[in-house]
Amino acid sequence: MPQLSRVTIEAEQAMSIKYNTMVYDLQRRGQKVLVMSLGEAFFDIPLLPMDDLPYPAVNHYSHSRGVHELREKLCGYHQDEYGVSIDPDREIVVTAGSKAAIHMTLMSILNPGDEALYPEPAWVSYPEQIKLCYGVPVGVPFGKSIHDFEAYITPKTRAIIINNPHNPRGYVYSEAELEQVLALARKYDLWVLCDEAYSDFLIDGSFTSLAKLDPEKKHAVVFNSMSKNYGISGWRIGYVIGDANLLDNVLKVNQHLITCPATILQYYLTRYFTDLLEITKPQIRDLVCSRARIAKYMDEIGLQYLPGSATFYFFVSIEPSRLSSEEFCTKLLEEEQICVVPGMGYGPSCDRFIRASIGTATLTDNMYGLRKVKELIDKTR
Ligand code: PLP
Repeated sequence: MPQLSRVTIEAEQAMSIKYNTMVYDLQRRGQKVLVMSLGEAFFDIPLLPMDDLPYPAVNHYSHSRGVHELREKLCGYHQDEYGVSIDPDREIVVTAGSKAAIHMTLMSILNPGDEALYPEPAWVSYPEQIKLCYGVPVGVPFGKSIHDFEAYITPKTRAIIINNPHNPRGYVYSEAELEQVLALARKYDLWVLCDEAYSDFLIDGSFTSLAKLDPEKKHAVVFNSMSKNYGISGWRIGYVIGDANLLDNVLKVNQHLITCPATILQYYLTRYFTDLLEITKPQIRDLVCSRARIAKYMDEIGLQYLPGSATFYFFVSIEPSRLSSEEFCTKLLEEEQICVVPGMGYGPSCDRFIRASIGTATLTDNMYGLRKVKELIDKTR
């Protein structure tokens, strides 16, 4: 066979997608599965009329930075909700999901062999994306705090990646913690890539966008997405906010890889921006309330999880089970038809955990699933 590249051969499949694929296969064979592995929430969202979208513009490529009116709406939203001022002409690029935005930004930052740092548990794609950009992923092991990051910085470090609110912990970083990361960035001249895809999944007002603490965006690069906050993950619309010069480079990558995100969807989002938020916001609120009820339920049955109040995820400890997190999840899927994601997918230091997502099943089913997790821990101790 002609050559395959080392970076793709060595890239790992995303653990969450690997398990979700098993679910799709089981479902195709007619099996009923309780899905607590999906990285999204299912909201009730009507399909709104498309008749008055600008025709024929919807059929054609749009500006590679994204439709201007959509950029204005997004910048207005960040100003109103998070107190961040953004120039829609220079400080934002809209692309096909925030996943692509993070990748394009890493491509614009890293030279081969450069390092990027992130705390574990870490979202499944950070290490692989760094590798795909010929960089070296450096995971700060579970149990270390932001105050320990400095020990992992080397002359090759170019970026720190954080996720706030955090998937899979549901944790929200305090302003003081974000300031601490920015202080490191200033000291060592680093970018801080802050993935804020779950920025609206909390109800206690504790979220601070990193860009608010670095208004000139000298170090802060923020990613966000319509996937989670607007409940339309399949549309693949996300964006990056940051320094104009950095984004000029990201724009070049965007132009060469996708030209622009789907034009019709950008116009649809522009047209219904407020309507969609009015539809999803109350549903997000309900889901976050459910999260609190489920946390209480886990306390009652003695399941331990990492502290957090946001998102629709829990990072649940499987101690003292003797199984690895993959063995645990496979057994749970095979024996109970319940799918959760092995902690190992979030970093080698996270094998004593599983990720449970409560975004797609009912409250009763989620509680049932977690009870089965507890029973399997007890059975395999
Ligand atoms: N960042 C985090 C932390 C996520 O969990 C996800 C999706 O699961 C993404 C980014 C990617 O989202 P998008 O659909 O915008 O590519």
